[in-house]
Amino acid sequence: MQQVSILGSTGSIGVSTLDVLARHPERYCVYALAANTQWSLLAEQVMRFAPRYAVLRDAQAAEQLREHLRARGCETQVLAGEEALAEVASASEVDTVMAAIVGAAGLLPTLAAVKAGKKVLLANKEALVMAGGLFMRSVVECGATLLPIDSEHNAIFQCLPNHQPDYLRAGLTASGVRKILLTASGGPFRTASAETLATVTPAQACAHPNWSMGQKISVDSATLMNKGLELIEACWLFNARPDQIEVVVHPQSVIHSLVEYADGSLLAQLGNPDMRTPIAHALAWPERIDSGVAGLDLIATARLDFCAPDSERFPCLALAQAAVRTGGTAPAVLNAANEVAVAAFLAGRIGFIDIPVVIRETMHRVPVTEPDTLTVVQTADSDARVAAEAVIDTL
Ligand code: NAD
Ligand code: MG
Repeated sequence: MQQVSILGSTGSIGVSTLDVLARHPERYCVYALAANTQWSLLAEQVMRFAPRYAVLRDAQAAEQLREHLRARGCETQVLAGEEALAEVASASEVDTVMAAIVGAAGLLPTLAAVKAGKKVLLANKEALVMAGGLFMRSVVECGATLLPIDSEHNAIFQCLPNHQPDYLRAGLTASGVRKILLTASGGPFRTASAETLATVTPAQACAHPNWSMGQKISVDSATLMNKGLELIEACWLFNARPDQIEVVVHPQSVIHSLVEYADGSLLAQLGNPDMRTPIAHALAWPERIDSGVAGLDLIATARLDFCAPDSERFPCLALAQAAVRTGGTAPAVLNAANEVAVAAFLAGRIGFIDIPVVIRETMHRVPVTEPDTLTVVQTADSDARVAAEAVIDTL
């Protein structure tokens, strides 16, 4: 019986994870469920899955949850605050941690799980973008097993040789890999004109054509920053150089990514766009379990299209490529500026096409340093947030 903690259980990935776990009560039990403020959905999840702990970052929301559960005679213990998130991610009873908090807030609890040597299912790509070097070093030093949940990275992992992470030590070329092809849907504005992009609303940006996801990643998909973050994520996960990764727009989101080998073979992973597939894959790896996702109907799919990304209408991808080439704290600055810009866009403070403007200007203003400690990374993150707010004030 595997004990699982889910960080971000009330989000899109968290809910899909619980759906998969519920299909296999003989394999998995829930140790802890954790979220930000959404206590009523967390209460429903607690009543259904009876975890040992329920954690809310927000103390007031935790108090409401505690009262609600006490009135129902529920024995789950309610904890509050950031330290409690890290505790349920690293407790000795826990085998597997689903890291599905959105944004920089996920870094510390995810790192706590890594340092405790857990099997870590990584959805929280921002943690790796911010602190990839420190993160991957801890994975090796602490004997954690890191499995990608992001559909593209999970696909790449499935297509790499023998599922043996030798590429972590020797690099991709030594494994016979020529390059990684990272697919992108192109988002809801793939064919929109530059004039249309200037008038995009948050509701339009959050309506992704193929995937149902949280608001922040939906906006990231619309700007193509999601692909930029994923490029950086792939460099760290697979010990790849940025020039070994090619982004290919594939509007149907049926091929989740590909690996090209030295002999000209391309291996791809295909499936319906449903995150329960990568979640089930990582949960059971190296075995396979039912995810609730139907097989892909190739005849109904009929055609698969591919094209190059348009960096003029979608400058965010190039900003991420520049950050990964610069290295150091540049990706942490990029990530923080993006989080601030996306929140400002969702709040109606800036336009859609202002998002890359805020990120570019923030990257000019915040100096790059060597991210050799977590404090350096956190300082870069907070400096970038202050700088991005200042840029927004000038727009
Ligand atoms: P979401 O907004 O639906 O859910 C986010 C979860 O994080 C919620 O449970 C929320 O309560 C929790 N959370 C937010 N801030 C927190 C904080 N400060 N402390 C504790 N908990 C906090 O987001 P999502 O779409 O589920 O995405 C989660 C992560 O997975 C993101 O990093 C995203 O990039 C990644 N991801 C998501 C998908 C997808 O299909 N949704 C696909 C690939 C990767
Ligand atoms: Mg993805």
